[in-house]
Order: sequence, then C-alpha cells, then structure tokens
Amino acid sequence: MSFPARLREGYQSFRTGRLPMEQSRYRELAERGQSPEIMVIGCCDSRVSPEVIFDARPGELFVVRNVANLVPPYSPDGAYHGVSAALEFAVLALKVKHIVVLGHAHCGGVKAFAEDAAPLSPGDFIGKWMSLMAPAAEAVGTREGRPHAEYLELMEKASIANSLANLLTFPRLRALVEAGEVALHGAYFGVATGELSVRDRGGEFVRI
Ligand SMILES: [Zn+2]
Repeated sequence: MSFPARLREGYQSFRTGRLPMEQSRYRELAERGQSPEIMVIGCCDSRVSPEVIFDARPGELFVVRNVANLVPPYSPDGAYHGVSAALEFAVLALKVKHIVVLGHAHCGGVKAFAEDAAPLSPGDFIGKWMSLMAPAAEAVGTREGRPHAEYLELMEKASIANSLANLLTFPRLRALVEAGEVALHGAYFGVATGELSVRDRGGEFVRI
C-alpha cells in the first residue's frame, strides 16, 4: 500500500501554507533545541489533538498521548514505561513548568473500562492499561441509578484526578510541585461542543 494520499495532500498544504510562516521558528528551534514550558498528557483519540485545541506553534507543547490519557504510578521495576520516560525527560531535561492531563468526553478507553468490554486480542493490552482506572472507578462509586452518559463523564473526570495523583508518586516531580516550580493541571475537552473545562482546587471542572 502506498503512503496515504491524505497525508501527501496534508503535507503539501503544510509546505505551502504554514511552513513558510513558521520557517524561521523551525530553524531557530533546530539550532537552539526545544524548550517547551508545557507538557500535555492526552488521549490518542483523533478528535482531541492538543496542538489543535490549544492552537500551539512548533516547540510550544511537549505532548505524550496514550489510550485515555492515563498516568501510571511511579514504578521503577525495569519494565517498559512510555509515559514515565516522557515525564522524566519533560521534567528533568526540559524542565517544563506545567503538566496538563487533558481528558475528554466520549473517551473510548473509559467506555471500554466502564462497560467491561471484551479483550480485542489475547494480549488484552487495553484491559491491562485501563485497569489503571480502578481507583477512579472506586472514587466515583456505584453506576446504579445514574444515567450511563453521566456515569461515563464522572469516570472521565475522576480518571484525570487519578492521573494527577499518580503524577505525585514520582518523587522528583513531587518535590518540584511542592517547591512551586511545576504546576499540575487537569482539563476536559467536550468533543461535541468544543468547550474546555479546567479542574479547580476543589476538584470541580470549570469552563473557560
Ligand atoms: Zn480518549
């Protein structure tokens, strides 16, 4: 199969449209290296691109995306930890000032967890990954008596809180947060409405 035509066309559009406008910035970033102040931990979902939502220019956001924007707890066990590796680089090498966990409405990963979806493969990578949401499910409590859509939104938001709590299990990051050098944030994107809510100190998501 050939390289997707959609990507060829998109690249041509980038090359004639955005690239000339950003060329000097790209050159400067290549020479100086990147120094983004903001890390975003988002979902793989194709509708929730952080660079699009935050209208970001090259070099502004350090982004790691995974199924359901989860952060696993600190576990230096010799296993492969993609999120932890990105976090280590962002915090200790790039010295980002902000880390944003960006959740969203209609998250397929959260839905799969909430509905106990059957594994897609014998490896059940999604099931294992989504089990990170167990503390969030516990915080939300029973789904009985709640409309399903409302339950899913509660789970999506509780999962953001759980990921923020897991960020604090990374000792070096925790020390930087306590010293006021790094700030952690939760945000929630409404796919249909395009609205963005930010988690306040009390744990409420407030539309901005
Ligand atoms: Zn998602």
